[in-house]
Amino acid sequence: MRGSTLRQQRKQCVICGREGEFEAVESFQFNDIQGAFIRCPSCQVQVAEPSLYSCDTYSHFYGSNALLRWTADCPSGEFGHRAWRLLYPAHRSVVAFIDGFPRDTSVLDLGCGAGWLLGVLKARGFLNVRGLEIVASVAAIVQSKGIPVVVEDVVEMLSSSSLSEGFRPDIVVLSELLEHLPDPVAVLRAVRTQLKPRLVLATTPSRDRWAVRMKVRPLGDYPPGHIWRWTKQGLLLAFERAGYTEVTVRPTKPDGREIWLQLLNLATAGGKRGNSGGRISDFLVRNVDFTVPVAGVILQPLALVLRLMRMEGRSLWISARAEM
Ligand SMILES: [Zn+2]
Repeated sequence: MRGSTLRQQRKQCVICGREGEFEAVESFQFNDIQGAFIRCPSCQVQVAEPSLYSCDTYSHFYGSNALLRWTADCPSGEFGHRAWRLLYPAHRSVVAFIDGFPRDTSVLDLGCGAGWLLGVLKARGFLNVRGLEIVASVAAIVQSKGIPVVVEDVVEMLSSSSLSEGFRPDIVVLSELLEHLPDPVAVLRAVRTQLKPRLVLATTPSRDRWAVRMKVRPLGDYPPGHIWRWTKQGLLLAFERAGYTEVTVRPTKPDGREIWLQLLNLATAGGKRGNSGGRISDFLVRNVDFTVPVAGVILQPLALVLRLMRMEGRSLWISARAEM
């Protein structure tokens, strides 16, 4: 699709399986490649064409930023406690959910990124945790905190089953992963059949979050970053088509700390500006133990106004039963 953007095309939806006329809703450009987000007329989920899914572009996008440098510098003994500050409400809900299980429950975080969620779980006594991460330099940071991480593409790992040979997870977490995958239903199905967990928990940015309603969309929300824009209905269909039962999709509510973390991510993101940040964002990140709670309190009135306007928070989080 280089150099051209289709306005409408007939195709089968990867998510809901129905065929229909997909409409181009927004164009994007990455280097010399021009593409568009197209929308399924049935489940309303939007997908980017072309998707530009590759390890190289991920390393460029996610390989270095101020929050990763903070993670690398954080002493291992304090990591889990301090990383809690950086979790969005959806991720805190995932932690709270897992907290209800015995401490010997094994957890695999597919696409674990900087390892904050695994660090928090480990600090709460879950010692049987493991991550999978596509960017080697990011995985090395997490490994330096004493958390085992396999460096591999999730799609390749699931087709080779290299991870499942020595580790059987009770719970698989897909934290901010579903918006990146070319075929999310195939991956969800492979997670269920290859890894055989009891439960899958997932988080993803919501297409209906307040920031998007107000036309604020970060660079990471375009390829080669996010290629899917999920709806609740789309997630429900994706999990059910992949064979899951008891699927629940929950939105979060606007929250002062969540607003601040989105601003912090905008200020520190990599992407076109490389290792962006500057002194102010470096200061804010270095002092997250102080800046996140204070900014959260200051921004809480704005969050309450957004709630009164019936706006939704940043993320959707999903729980689904995987075992038959
Ligand atoms: Zn669809």
